[in-house]
Amino acid sequence: MLLEAASQEIQRLREEIREHEYHYYVLDQPKISDAQYDGLMRQLHDLEAAYPALVTQDSPTQRVGGQPRAGFQTAPHSSAMLSLDNALNDAELAAFDNRVRDLLGGLSYQYVAELKLDGLSLALRYQQGSLRIAITRGNGQEGEVVTENARTIGSVPLYARAEALGEALPGDFEVRGEVVMPRAAFERLNEQREEEGLSLFANPRNAAAGALRVLDPAITASRRLDFYAYFLLVDGAPAFDSQWRCLEALSAMGFKVNPQRRLCDGLPSLLTTIREWEALRPGLPYEIDGVVAKVDSRVQQELLGWTAKAPRWAIAFKYAASQAETVLERITVQVGRTGALTPVANLKPVVVGGVTVSRATLHNMDEIERLGVAEGDTVLVERSGDVIPKVVRIVEQGPERLQFTMPSACPECGGHVVREPGEVAYRCVNAACPAKLRERLLHFASRPVMDIDGLGDAIVDQLLTKQLVTDVSDLYRLHADQIEALDRMGKKSAQNLVAQIEKSRQQPLPRVISALGIRFVGERTAQFLAAEFPSMDELMQASEEQLQRAEEIGPKVARSIRGFFEDQHNVDLVERLRAAGLQFHYDPPRPATRLEGVTGKTFVLTGTLPNLTRDQAKAYIEAAGGKVAGSVSKKTSFVVAGEEAGSKLDKARSLGVPVLDEAQLLSLLGTASS
Ligand SMILES: [Zn+2]
Repeated sequence: MLLEAASQEIQRLREEIREHEYHYYVLDQPKISDAQYDGLMRQLHDLEAAYPALVTQDSPTQRVGGQPRAGFQTAPHSSAMLSLDNALNDAELAAFDNRVRDLLGGLSYQYVAELKLDGLSLALRYQQGSLRIAITRGNGQEGEVVTENARTIGSVPLYARAEALGEALPGDFEVRGEVVMPRAAFERLNEQREEEGLSLFANPRNAAAGALRVLDPAITASRRLDFYAYFLLVDGAPAFDSQWRCLEALSAMGFKVNPQRRLCDGLPSLLTTIREWEALRPGLPYEIDGVVAKVDSRVQQELLGWTAKAPRWAIAFKYAASQAETVLERITVQVGRTGALTPVANLKPVVVGGVTVSRATLHNMDEIERLGVAEGDTVLVERSGDVIPKVVRIVEQGPERLQFTMPSACPECGGHVVREPGEVAYRCVNAACPAKLRERLLHFASRPVMDIDGLGDAIVDQLLTKQLVTDVSDLYRLHADQIEALDRMGKKSAQNLVAQIEKSRQQPLPRVISALGIRFVGERTAQFLAAEFPSMDELMQASEEQLQRAEEIGPKVARSIRGFFEDQHNVDLVERLRAAGLQFHYDPPRPATRLEGVTGKTFVLTGTLPNLTRDQAKAYIEAAGGKVAGSVSKKTSFVVAGEEAGSKLDKARSLGVPVLDEAQLLSLLGTASS
């Protein structure tokens, strides 16, 4: 393809992808499937790989990628990022409004009401429409530069459509807003951390802050943060003469702006809005802690001015956490999907913030000890948003107090309950524990593990309710007609699923090891284990000491593996998987050899090879010590050409670069084609 044509095609793809990103991340209304989106991204990726000179920082392909860095630099803000004064009740809000009225000396004014998201503030600076730098709020005067991490947030436009405003906004501008972690992502993250024995994040704000400030952008990307814009600045000053117009402009430029925004004439209208939005709180996908009111007119904002700490033209009205007193009648235990035992306070029913509450979480044994609660105590219960109510403190000790102790057997299955040293949670170690089964099935079927395409949440739930599956090995006994009988399953999809399950019997031992769901044993650890113990039997018999011979296996992981195989339930499960015909032996791939004739040589791939994907061919060449480049030059050692090879092949011929087909490549690499 000619450079010109490639450039046009790249441009076209970028615009199309940006449009889809906008619909997906900002409007939450995707127009195409994930697979179609991936297809577009792949096309763009391939084209950019072929024409590296055409890659720009604002290309959608550049969202993820940056390398972890050693630390964050700091940068000054264009103008101070001040926090807001708070109003904790109607009277404090009225006092604020009085002051505004006095200072404006009789001018009429309006407030813009916006939800106060419970996240962290971020400033994004754009040059010529492209995102150049992202800075956290920091101390308000300067913050940390987190550009690479901010780039991974889908709702942060890498290119903002300033031209969409149809008026003169310079290409260089700054957008400020709030980064939040949606509740669903927060819950998933904490579940995962619990599973890995890590400390839990107290709330989504802390988790979002942690995610934005990690040094590896890939981690930020995995945390599914969201960004809501609320300020548009040019040279550190508001770009518009009204806050309302600023929000409308941000929305037109492709930023996500909260749909809950309202122009209010004075205090009564503001109070009505605050009450109305409080009712929305439990249904919102993210945490809020109040409503921000800003005087709309910029001229009036200037008139009102600032104190040293905060603007006089804005205030944050904070919603109260709802609390009530009641009696803690009993403490019971719930087994979570990860096997963790969570103590639950069963309360004498009480109305908290308009909702009847009869249960509250006590989190774990440490929390019970910290609170000092016992059955029979009168306690203070708090509810915020739709988060599970929690016990805040004892109000009065009960007359007959019964101290709680954690059971030694799982209430669901009778399995052993253990608490690992250094961990907060007590867990049921039985892999077949029904409470854990759903999670186990999803893990088992997931792509990096047994890769059973089509076995998602909906099917797993039905298999469990219909009791078609009581442990993961039952998957291998399912018939197509049993699956076809499930909701929304046709003959074809049932057959496909059975074929997928059948195919998974061939997954190599490292995947089978990781499929067992042994704590601390993920895909990578499983690889190391299989390399050291090339059969399941050797692994099952290995002592803690022997296990630590495998790469990266320390005492904690070794103890976890030993503990797993000491539980008879788990041994039984392994035997059922053996009977199902899973791969229990392993031939590790031969270590990569540095081949004479390949080491240091540069290869260029073009066209479609008959058997290898481009990634596979690249991996083979690199494993043998060669390099793969995107374009042909005099320095290219070989061009590997498949079907429909284009201009690269022509160029190779004109430069006299040797051209190989797939078979010749494989023979050069010393790998027989199979
Ligand atoms: Zn159990």
